[in-house]
Amino acid sequence: MCGGMTHWLRRSRIGLTLTALIALWFIASLRADSHATRRVSSPRQTLSITADTRLLIVAPHPDDEVLAAGGVIQRVRSVNGVLRIVYLTDGEGYREGVQAEEHKAVPKPSDYREYGLERKDEARHALRTLGIGSDALTFLGFPNEGLSRLMTVYWSERRAAYRSPYTRRDRPLKSETIDADTKFRGEDLTQELAAIIGEFKPTMILVSRREDQHVDHCAAWFFVADAMGDVFRVEPGFDADLITYIIHYYSWPFETDPPRLDPPPDLSSGVSGWLTVPLTTREMETKRRALRQYKTQMRVMDWFLEGFVRRSEIFSRPATRHVVLPVRRSPCDAFIESHH
Ligand SMILES: [Zn+2]
Repeated sequence: MCGGMTHWLRRSRIGLTLTALIALWFIASLRADSHATRRVSSPRQTLSITADTRLLIVAPHPDDEVLAAGGVIQRVRSVNGVLRIVYLTDGEGYREGVQAEEHKAVPKPSDYREYGLERKDEARHALRTLGIGSDALTFLGFPNEGLSRLMTVYWSERRAAYRSPYTRRDRPLKSETIDADTKFRGEDLTQELAAIIGEFKPTMILVSRREDQHVDHCAAWFFVADAMGDVFRVEPGFDADLITYIIHYYSWPFETDPPRLDPPPDLSSGVSGWLTVPLTTREMETKRRALRQYKTQMRVMDWFLEGFVRRSEIFSRPATRHVVLPVRRSPCDAFIESHH
């Protein structure tokens, strides 16, 4: 979650009732047409998590990992699987959040940097609530709302690195990087991710899907798929199940939905159909407590965060994971308009 979506979210909340009604009508009409066939043709499978699971979660911003997979994280821990969470950005460029936090109409670069530190702290607290220690977390410190630019013009050292308009930084903090020369360039982010994947050897990778309407969430998918390609080239025997989640998609999740989390009605379920993980009441409550550790986010959009505390979590598998970066035009740029 995060980074400038609130204007759009607030607007969409005003239209939520109407959108929800339209969505309900749409679902009802689908059911009237083919209720029986739909039930037979697209059963929801349960995502399997065992003691052999080595799960890598890639979160564009602190809080996405709990929103999408707060239940899955608890499940991996309870079966003694291994977990690693990588945050691509600190969520530091979320102007409305910084304004609310710092009580300033025009925040300075130092305010954005401070906000990023606060969000990282919240992530540590949230994951501790889920029973996960800080050593499982990696903050790559790449630029919030800048990832899509790194897929295109700011790809290689043939030109200056991207500079965040928020923090004025052009590289992550040294302490955050695996390679000390890392700057805000696409190939540097791919390399950092490939190094993590190659070293951790996940059996399963969770990342936001390319249809997610937040520009960083969309870009995250491309970087993970590109990094997996790099790892395969070096280690052809390596494989990991690539699973995607969705956070931002029009005004989903609807407040009128049943207690379980149903997928957006018009979004593809991917190659293997929707995959769910049902949550126990206790897991649900623990997920809620973890999300509430994200105080900076709860302050500005608690209703959105709480919308993900349901009886299930939902995932899918992409049709393809073949991606070669850089690209001339980023498909994610289509989502930039909706942010400001
Ligand atoms: Zn996010």
